[in-house]
Amino acid sequence: MSLVARQVAYTYPGANGAQVGPLDLEVRPGAVTALVGPSGSGKSTLTRLLAGLLAASAGEVRCDDEPVRAGGRLSGHTALLTQHPLAAADPRMRLGDAIQLAARLRGRQVDAVALAEEVGLDGSVLDRLPREVSGGQLQRLLLARALAQGPRYLLADEATAHLDPITSTAIADALRRRAADGLGILLVTHDHALAASLAEHRYALDAGGRTLSA
Ligand code: ADP
Ligand code: ADP
Repeated sequence: MSLVARQVAYTYPGANGAQVGPLDLEVRPGAVTALVGPSGSGKSTLTRLLAGLLAASAGEVRCDDEPVRAGGRLSGHTALLTQHPLAAADPRMRLGDAIQLAARLRGRQVDAVALAEEVGLDGSVLDRLPREVSGGQLQRLLLARALAQGPRYLLADEATAHLDPITSTAIADALRRRAADGLGILLVTHDHALAASLAEHRYALDAGGRTLSA
């Protein structure tokens, strides 16, 4: 059981469309796997392929032995966190409601206060709108929302980039605990030190988006 990319490639449309891959990668349950590479190397593209948000031009993505068919929305067992928290949050929905809704859409019920506390926040922030909290608080609440979905795999794409150290540490601690609890995590980052401190398995992508070394 794992989330795997086998010889997966994606070519952006257009005469000079960038090509990413072909690449092989495995995200195992109960561990943090890091995907490291410089800006433009294809980390986000590969993440979207794994999430089922982008259809591979070649190769195959499988989640726990089921093929992931890209249909423009996130595949069922996967949650995604990006480096653009404001873009990912509904501006009109209170953060606690957003967490409850994310859970309900996956047929689950959660304790939003407990999830907020898990990412180092007081439950009182749940009554606020996205624009009423700091960027770091919002990213932590989006992690809480992702966890509310009860995913088997969490793809964290530069989830702690540009955030304050307290936020980064709170997120890293939560990811570590969740991995110990069985969640399969892909930590996508340009930060080798973060990858070294958090991940048990590491993949490095080169600048051309082609070679992936474990
Ligand atoms: P990273 O996440 O490592 O910064 P990306 O996956 O965003 O890398 O980008 C990989 C390559 O694909 C780059 O050459 C980038 O310019 C190109 N690319 C990314 N998104 C698009 C897009 N929407 N349209 C065209 N090219 C893109
Ligand atoms: P990331 O590295 O996470 O993709 P960026 O801030 O670099 O984030 O990119 C923001 C958006 O721009 C993404 O949706 C990405 O797909 C798109 N993008 C990146 N490179 C290109 C490109 N060469 N042409 C068109 N869109 C691009």
